[in-house]
Amino acid sequence: MTVSSSASPNMPISRSHANDSNVDDSSAVSLLCSELIRHDSSALGELERGVAERVAEELSNMSLEVQVLEQQPRRTNVVTRITGTDSTAPALLVHIHLDVVPAVPGTWRVPPYSGEIRDGCVWGRGAVDMKNMAAMTLVALRELLGRGWRPRRDIVLAFVADEELGGAAGARWLVEEHAELFQGCSEAIGEAGGFSHEYAPNRRAYLVQSGEKGIGWLRLVAHGPGGHGSMMHKENPIVRLSEAIQRLDRHDFGLQLCNSMTELVDAAKKWNNTDDAETALHRTGPLAKLLVPTLRNTYNATEIHAGLQHNVVPPRAEALIDGRFVPGFETEFYQDIENLLGDLVEVQPVFHNSALETPFTGPIPEAITRALAAEDPQSITVPTCLPIGTDAKHFARLGIKCYGFVPLQLPSSFDFPAMFHGVDERVPTAALNFGQRVLQRFFESC
Ligand SMILES: [Zn+2]
Repeated sequence: MTVSSSASPNMPISRSHANDSNVDDSSAVSLLCSELIRHDSSALGELERGVAERVAEELSNMSLEVQVLEQQPRRTNVVTRITGTDSTAPALLVHIHLDVVPAVPGTWRVPPYSGEIRDGCVWGRGAVDMKNMAAMTLVALRELLGRGWRPRRDIVLAFVADEELGGAAGARWLVEEHAELFQGCSEAIGEAGGFSHEYAPNRRAYLVQSGEKGIGWLRLVAHGPGGHGSMMHKENPIVRLSEAIQRLDRHDFGLQLCNSMTELVDAAKKWNNTDDAETALHRTGPLAKLLVPTLRNTYNATEIHAGLQHNVVPPRAEALIDGRFVPGFETEFYQDIENLLGDLVEVQPVFHNSALETPFTGPIPEAITRALAAEDPQSITVPTCLPIGTDAKHFARLGIKCYGFVPLQLPSSFDFPAMFHGVDERVPTAALNFGQRVLQRFFESC
């Protein structure tokens, strides 16, 4: 089954013929992913309504009853429930965000909303974040339901708006105002784990997200008397603030290992022949960018504001810090920065969101592990913590255990972390086909 007939005639899908052996390029999942990318659902584009209508159409074609909900015009959420055969079993939630971050055309090798399929990849904004998951889930369920299959437990599918800017019109709103939609859900899958790391030739570990760091955004404020720019100023707030940022940058906060990372760190030490956790994760290739920051609390200066005019020393200077804390190390996060900088600047909390951690045991992790092993028999499944924040933070408030599971088998050279919000975002078509097959097995056995 393909969806090529519904592709817009104005936006033909171009395919590379350089590699004719790659038969995956025109699979249903690649074509659907490409089509979803062609709806620019960024805040600078058409928002989520266009892509949501396309998703709703797919679900309706599966004879599912679809609810379309908007907290704001065009910020569209689509929710449906597939009724399971066992009404006593808890339900599974699958949450997928439909929005993407904006892309600047001209800096890309392809137009970012073209959904072009070439060189064995589907290209465009959302290819990994996370229209890939929307396409894999929809095609997997279309295949299964099309042959009369019913899941054992209810499966709630939530395609949500507004993840990238916090979920006020998406997951947060649904959780606060429409919690009944998630009735009975005990576990969820969603962003962002499930990708592979090839630790030896043809030996892969799939890193499934069972934890995510918390968010602690802070403001550092330095004060001083201020005055004329021609005079001596021992307490210039700009200098104090600069010192604070430098001190923060130089400080070694030491290793802060959460439960979700112990198994991966132990495995990575063996793969890389080292006893040092940080060295082990640094040697995971491109994935190191995602994995190393989960070993400790981090504080990145992201904005700085000071000054009135060229000849005035200001009475105040401030910097914004994007802080992230490891599950279980929230107290240390606030205490350490106060201890380190309290003599120089005032540390003000701006925004706080808890870290998440779920034990990787029980029926859903077991079904995930089985599905991956069936499609990649030599592989292992390893729980992991990721430094990013996802909609799981909202759904966890309903008591749902959340796992990041977007199954992708990636080539070892593929710089997966660079794809997120990056230029030339793309996903290998073979990874999409793999993910669809894994999800099918997962839905069948969960
Ligand atoms: Zn995302």
